[in-house]
Amino acid sequence: MAKKSKAKNKKASGVKSSKAKASRSDAGSKWPLERQVFFRPNRKKYVRKEIKDSGCVFCRAAEAAPSAETLCVFKSKYTQIVLNKFPYNNGHLLVLPLRHCGDLLKLSPDEYTDLHYMIRLAVEAINAVYQPTGLNIGLNHGSSAGAGIPDHLHYHIVPRWSGDVNFFPLIAKTKVVIETVEDSYKSFEEFFKGVES
Ligand SMILES: [Zn+2]
Repeated sequence: MAKKSKAKNKKASGVKSSKAKASRSDAGSKWPLERQVFFRPNRKKYVRKEIKDSGCVFCRAAEAAPSAETLCVFKSKYTQIVLNKFPYNNGHLLVLPLRHCGDLLKLSPDEYTDLHYMIRLAVEAINAVYQPTGLNIGLNHGSSAGAGIPDHLHYHIVPRWSGDVNFFPLIAKTKVVIETVEDSYKSFEEFFKGVES
């Protein structure tokens, strides 16, 4: 109670402690404004360029066997797990239906169930290979929500570690990704060797 009234007095006198300031600024750096996350993805132009040049990259990956070339590392009956060519962090995976579909509500019950089972499998793979302390798991549904390839649904799963930087610097490419996508592929390939499709 004594602590509370002390804080109240400080507030009333307009004095802001340096501790309070530090805590507010920490909160800001850990959880950036949504618009910073969704409306400035400068990597999007690269993804879109890829669509124009060669059709849907996800469909191409779906048609072929898993390979380092397409970055697809695992397939089930309805779903594939693909490495993000432009990772936000080491081990960034995408989980998506094999079928070209941009609307979650248009997936069949089997496709939907399998997709979510595979999200769980991708999390297991990331945990086994990278031992992150946290994960960002998300779906940008539609181009206005920030989807790079809006016509082909894809969940992002991004490994996180305490003390790594927030999403905005990652998207703005100020984060140093210490591992090549090729090396990440090899690590995941090893994990998925032991998994039945
Ligand atoms: Zn597609």
